[in-house]
Amino acid sequence: MSAHDISTAEVIDLGGAHDEIGMEAALDIARAGLTRGELPIGAVVVADGRIVGRAHTEEVTQRRLLVHAELLALEEADRADGWDRRRATLYTTLEPCLMCLGAAATAMVGRIVWALKSDSDGAGRLATEWSDGRSADLPHPHLPAVTGPVAEDAARDLFRAYVDARGDSCDPFVRWAATIIGEPPEPMSTPPDPASDPTPSR
Ligand SMILES: [Zn+2]
Repeated sequence: MSAHDISTAEVIDLGGAHDEIGMEAALDIARAGLTRGELPIGAVVVADGRIVGRAHTEEVTQRRLLVHAELLALEEADRADGWDRRRATLYTTLEPCLMCLGAAATAMVGRIVWALKSDSDGAGRLATEWSDGRSADLPHPHLPAVTGPVAEDAARDLFRAYVDARGDSCDPFVRWAATIIGEPPEPMSTPPDPASDPTPSR
């Protein structure tokens, strides 16, 4: 079964050995977002061999800031019935931020697998620290097990395509995307160097 078949039939063979297949479904929806002018970030929730949530980020379409791909995919999954949350996996093409990590925990998703690391807002490492100091007797949200990178090159290629298509834009989304692929843009303005120009400008 090819990744294309899976994305159309919405059936995925679960398990760590098949994370590349789940991630391909997330990359597919990220590509769809890219063609619509969005950042190339996609996410799917896979449970019991089915995709129960799927979304790309919609900041541009909705002109809102909380509409991350992972959060939208989790919301769709949360409205669906009959899936085993603890055995479900959230696949996302970018390391999840603090909001989406928290949403996955609240949705009781067991695992998160990400493709491309985000030094900017990635919060994956917090998942290993969350339970420290909390008693096993205390009923508290368990953060998902977080794994990455998977299919890192494919996710980076999408970000590079997004940045290259926009050139030297001053758009903060574009500038942020450039940092994700390790190619931060030049500062938009630099303060005057008093050593080279001692004359006050005003
Ligand atoms: Zn997020």
